[in-house]
Amino acid sequence: MSRPLQARIDLAAIQHNFRLARAYADSARVLAVIKANAYGHGAAPVARALATEANAFGVACAEEALELRDSGIRAPILLLEGPFAAAELDLIDQARLMTVVHDARQLDWVLQARPRHPLCVWLKIDTGMHRLGMTGEEGRAAHARLAACPQVGELVLMTHFARADEADTAPTDHQMADFARLLASIPAGTPPARSLANSAAILTRPDTHADWIRPGIMLYGLDPLEHPHPRAAALRPAMSLTSQLTAVRDLGPGEAIGYGGRFVCQRPTRVGVVAGGYADGYPRHAPDGTPVAVNGQLTCLIGRVSMDMLTVDLSNQPQARPGDPVELWGTQISANAVAAASGTISYELLTGLSRRVPLRYQ
Ligand code: PLP
Repeated sequence: MSRPLQARIDLAAIQHNFRLARAYADSARVLAVIKANAYGHGAAPVARALATEANAFGVACAEEALELRDSGIRAPILLLEGPFAAAELDLIDQARLMTVVHDARQLDWVLQARPRHPLCVWLKIDTGMHRLGMTGEEGRAAHARLAACPQVGELVLMTHFARADEADTAPTDHQMADFARLLASIPAGTPPARSLANSAAILTRPDTHADWIRPGIMLYGLDPLEHPHPRAAALRPAMSLTSQLTAVRDLGPGEAIGYGGRFVCQRPTRVGVVAGGYADGYPRHAPDGTPVAVNGQLTCLIGRVSMDMLTVDLSNQPQARPGDPVELWGTQISANAVAAASGTISYELLTGLSRRVPLRYQ
């Protein structure tokens, strides 16, 4: 293949970031979240890179879990949204998956299942995200039924934070208090394991680490926090979206670049054309000024991103020529910076990489 656009994946960086999560929460087990093709990094290679260290993996649906099983991954895998139909319980049993239960329908499916192996159930409690999960009272009752159910082996109580990335700690404090109330209402006996923390909470809130942490974005080296934090500074980005200049041209004052003529040159301007556009997953709405690195030097996008190409300002690089290296995001240009300029988050950029961008593992 000769198109120069590629996503280089540094598996050692993912291992480094995983070990940071483990070190920050050293008494917790780690469920590495590798849904959505490991946030665009390739689920099977990432799972293999973490196979000897992760206690479990988290995916969005059975198809993602089966892809991992087909790739030889034997570690426990959790379906983060639980089954979407009763029939999935058979598959969960056969493929030895763990499942979330977030509502009464899924609870019934589990209670009526006749699996060959004990089921591991993660009961999801809504403490403030208001998306999936049971209220405290429903959760207490569901816990009692699951605890008494012979086909249920391990039980984990989980919740998910809506605002752990923010500097204001009050919303997370409220969610914690809600979760603690539920735990206190569970009769004495074998206490369930607990899981609360996503990446933002792993980095900033040791009081949330409990028995299982669930790092996602931090494994891929992206800082989820709105505010600077020394723990986030130690992360290493795992994906570099790199390409090359495919053309270089000189435009005069008043000449416009690309569709819609969005960028009009004010002075003589050297423009670089880069292989990479919105059909690859680069955001079409990235504005003029979005950072890009050419030949290791910082410059910026000018003109509207098109399907297969984008254009950059080379005014500070008179020597630049076709074939020169470009980084769209990675170690020099944070995906967070491109996302912020484009009004989105790094998660969307990483998971939105299209199939035609080859992943190259280092
Ligand atoms: N836990 C659950 C239930 C999730 O849905 C996700 C991701 O959306 C994560 C953990 C990981 O979150 P993050 O990538 O912010 O660490």
